[in-house]
Amino acid sequence: MPIYEYICEDCNERFEKIVINKQQEISCPKCSSKKAAIQLSVFAMAGSGNSSTPSGGFSGGGGGCCGGGCSCH
Ligand SMILES: [Zn+2]
Repeated sequence: MPIYEYICEDCNERFEKIVINKQQEISCPKCSSKKAAIQLSVFAMAGSGNSSTPSGGFSGGGGGCCGGGCSCH
């Protein structure tokens, strides 16, 4: 089953929903708002001007894998 990530436009709560039908109504579990914006990709959010960035956001430093120290290239 597809699980999509949503962000509530009212309280910025992030939550995931199993979506069977894309026409189904999504409501925020925190404030019950219906204004939830679907996040197709977490990476698409980078640089999109979201005000609150949780810890561990993009730093552009290329940490973790593919930093040259691993053999995945
Ligand atoms: Zn909300």
